[in-house]
Amino acid sequence: MIFRPEILAIKDQRMKPFIDPNEIWGLINNTSSPPQRVRDVIAKSLDKQRLTLEETAVLINANQPDLIAEIKEGAKQLKERVYGQRIVLFAPLYIGNLCINNCAYCGFKADNRVVKRTTLSSEELKEQVKALEDVGQKRLILVYGEHPKYDAQFIADTTRIVYSVKSGPGEIRRVNINAAPFDVDGFRIIKDANIGTYQIFQETYHEETYRKVHLGGIKQDFNWRLTALDRAQEAGIDDVGIGALFGLYDWRFEVLGLVRHTNHFEAVYQVGPHTISFPRIQYASELNINKSHLVSDEEFTRLVAILRLAVPYTGLILTAREPASIRNEILQFGVSQIDGGTNIEMGSYSKRKAGEDQDIDFEQFQINDNRSLDEIMVELIDQSYIPSFCTACYRLGRTGEHFMEFSVPGFIKRYCQPNALMTMAEYLEDYAPSETKEKGNRLIREKLAEMPEDKFKFQLKEKLQQIKEGKRDIYF
Ligand code: SAM
Ligand code: SF4
Repeated sequence: MIFRPEILAIKDQRMKPFIDPNEIWGLINNTSSPPQRVRDVIAKSLDKQRLTLEETAVLINANQPDLIAEIKEGAKQLKERVYGQRIVLFAPLYIGNLCINNCAYCGFKADNRVVKRTTLSSEELKEQVKALEDVGQKRLILVYGEHPKYDAQFIADTTRIVYSVKSGPGEIRRVNINAAPFDVDGFRIIKDANIGTYQIFQETYHEETYRKVHLGGIKQDFNWRLTALDRAQEAGIDDVGIGALFGLYDWRFEVLGLVRHTNHFEAVYQVGPHTISFPRIQYASELNINKSHLVSDEEFTRLVAILRLAVPYTGLILTAREPASIRNEILQFGVSQIDGGTNIEMGSYSKRKAGEDQDIDFEQFQINDNRSLDEIMVELIDQSYIPSFCTACYRLGRTGEHFMEFSVPGFIKRYCQPNALMTMAEYLEDYAPSETKEKGNRLIREKLAEMPEDKFKFQLKEKLQQIKEGKRDIYF
């Protein structure tokens, strides 16, 4: 056997903290961004190459308005060249808001006596899932507070319940999880329930700030959280999502923290995170944070463009925390997933229609885009995006799909776009009001007209016809 010390050294990094604040601040303070260097870095990303931490710092430090505009333009070009026009839709479903932690920014924190605590019973959970299926949702993310009641078995059990609910033509085809970190055995139990992505946000990569905003409970342990997704990987969950809660600390530090986290996964597990999320702090019941690092709209759209260029093949998730105007700008930078028809009030999908006022005493934070799923569909279709509920890669075991989309020539044209059109066609047949159906079918015709007359187009037309005739859940 050949002794490879460098491989051993990388393996040694499993479950080890990897954030060095001096390294990150050193890059922010010592990297200059002359215009030509900024352009070279953008060109490297457009050439489909990952950026280093130092190159990301070059983009972060490019402060002149014209260079910021070039960075945003670069992100748009990357999206147009690589990702095509489809946007995957999902909905969050809050399972329980009991919590033992005291995160200063969150309405569910243990010390908040105002918020009404509840955990969905099996029957209530089924009712919520049915309501989600009845508007056409196919992909959910289940969200949990951190509490002994929400152990790994509970998460696995609730996931199985979600998959078991079928309402008419409706079914949930992919369940992602956003919950507390577990040990390796706990993650194994959850993996067995056939989850999609396991998301855990570090909130802030700056340990000192982390300690200031996590005032009680297990979540106070920075390194337990930082290494959580390493334990998930050890348990065989290789589809993981990272994120930072923007507004707790300097956004520049957090962007480099996210890129450093990505580097860690790539070095140790040879696969980067499936997705990166970038929630921005919203008003919450009993919100108690230092507001000096809140991120402006201008900084926010800029940092998303930088992330797009830094990790060109990682999925980016944008949520209803952001208002429609910000969502529309950021969609152009190659965001791959958004939520639609979101209600984050506990138990609200079956009771309250999207668009009605929220009751902040039942919620983790205020959302700013409470349009219904159909309104989001129409808005996307009007802008020539193809709303997608596709789950094909995950169900066919094609893991690393973002990487394939990015690096396998023709992958998007051959798989993602046709699957997006088929899942949209199912929605149009089963759930859409007539106006949406008309617009959606027009978009399908336009997209078909753009395709070359080859066997793939023939197969797609055949499958679209089968959907019209009642066949469901077909994909490439
Ligand atoms: N309790 C688990 C945890 O903390 O990881 C699971 C999910 S928590 C309910 C989901 C995410 O919401 C958190 O990781 C945090 O980033 C985000 N969040 C919390 N409070 C927020 C606020 N006021 N505004 C925006 N996002 C917030
Ligand atoms: Fe609990 Fe999560 Fe909210 Fe923290 S962010 S208080 S762990 S629900």
